[in-house]
Amino acid sequence: MNLIQEVKPKKQKKQPKQGMLENVMKQFESAADLINLNPNIKKILSVTNNELIIHFPVKMDNGDVEIFKGYRVQHNNALGPYKGGLRYHPTIDIDAVKALAIWMTWKTSLAGLPYGGAKGGIEIDPTKYSITELERITRRFTYALGDNIGPEHDIPAPDVNTNSQTMAWIADTYMSTKKPSERSKNQHVVTGKPIGSGGLEGRDRATGYGVFLTIKFWADHENIKLENKTFIVQGFGNVGYWTAHFLEKEGAKLVGVQDAFGTIVNKKGIGVENLLEYTKNNHGSIVGFSNSREIAKGDFFGLDCDICVPAALGNQITENIAPQIKASIIAEGANGPTTVEAEAILLKRGVTIIPDILCNSGGVIGSYFEWLQNRNGELWELDEILERLHKKMKEVFTKVLVVSESKKIDMRTAAYVLAIERLERTYVQRGVFP
Ligand code: NAD
Repeated sequence: MNLIQEVKPKKQKKQPKQGMLENVMKQFESAADLINLNPNIKKILSVTNNELIIHFPVKMDNGDVEIFKGYRVQHNNALGPYKGGLRYHPTIDIDAVKALAIWMTWKTSLAGLPYGGAKGGIEIDPTKYSITELERITRRFTYALGDNIGPEHDIPAPDVNTNSQTMAWIADTYMSTKKPSERSKNQHVVTGKPIGSGGLEGRDRATGYGVFLTIKFWADHENIKLENKTFIVQGFGNVGYWTAHFLEKEGAKLVGVQDAFGTIVNKKGIGVENLLEYTKNNHGSIVGFSNSREIAKGDFFGLDCDICVPAALGNQITENIAPQIKASIIAEGANGPTTVEAEAILLKRGVTIIPDILCNSGGVIGSYFEWLQNRNGELWELDEILERLHKKMKEVFTKVLVVSESKKIDMRTAAYVLAIERLERTYVQRGVFP
């Protein structure tokens, strides 16, 4: 490697900021006001505990060195170790990571898990790098994070553009920095690992299965059959695919899909498994799938359907989009897909929103199972895992529904009330050191 030569970084298109932080804070404040949250506890929960920004160098395949910017934000750990995903995306910045970390605190609290909330990521378009470069980027980032993460301290997991392979690299790098006798004790530094490297059977589908279950619980509550209902999905990655898989199995029909590359429709139905196979041979993209027609990106959310599943990025359903939505239910697979302004319009129109911190919590619940499995040296079986996930999701969904109906508030506010009240109880019991 010649360190003196001029380094030409690969061009990355800057995308607009997502404004998710404003969104999560507005959601928090309205729920906090509703329950008259203790003002001192409100102060604590309004800020993030730790924010780490790391610039780190990585050698590219051609010998050049590129500098990357990585983040880890730890919002709150009153209920247990920090927990939250790692996202590789060009729109990642400190505010986006803070917002996502805060959502994790509400999510783990609502689910009754012994975790706090965190999130991290790297500002990068991973499609521009080879697999070997991505491995070195991930390993170097893990090394730079050092003991700011740890199996009993802060436990990352997959998110947008990261997967079980990314987690395997992180676990291996982190464990390699420990004494040989302590390595295996550190396997649960990340969840979402491949089976065979400590991963949990079914963790891949846990989020999408949970999204599906919340739709099913809602439909049962409303006496609606999902058979022949139509649905659209934004994002055909881990969450989008698995949600579509389970909805299709229940007899519902996928009529529109959008991913980062384009939008496809077919009123007669798009076969979920065929589409998955197609994307595997098409660089992950849905564009060009034979049994479909491509439409403009802006026409996606206005498609005729019964169920809408945003499962990509935040702030996708804005106040301009909200009036176009035809679905009667929105199930938030993604974190923060609906802005506060859009939500007000949708609720007025009678659209039900299953909020992210409830809807996609199957992922972190699955992660908790994986963490327990590693910690206790156990091997759990798929049937048992899906049954436990079902039980937990049903319990949390029912709690949210009861609060929503008894207090006559929307499901998001109800979910926030439950999440914040649990944290408030903990702080009241423990007090503030010293
Ligand atoms: P993924 O990387 O597996 O898939 C992301 C999908 O979104 C891809 O199909 C991609 O093409 C698409 N996409 C990206 N940008 C887009 C855009 N601008 N417009 C339309 N589509 C776009 O990611 P994932 O793990 O499925 O995560 C999706 C969402 O679910 C994120 O908001 C994430 O925070 C949330 N989530 C994920 C998990 C999990 O376990 N993976 C858990 C809870 C919540």
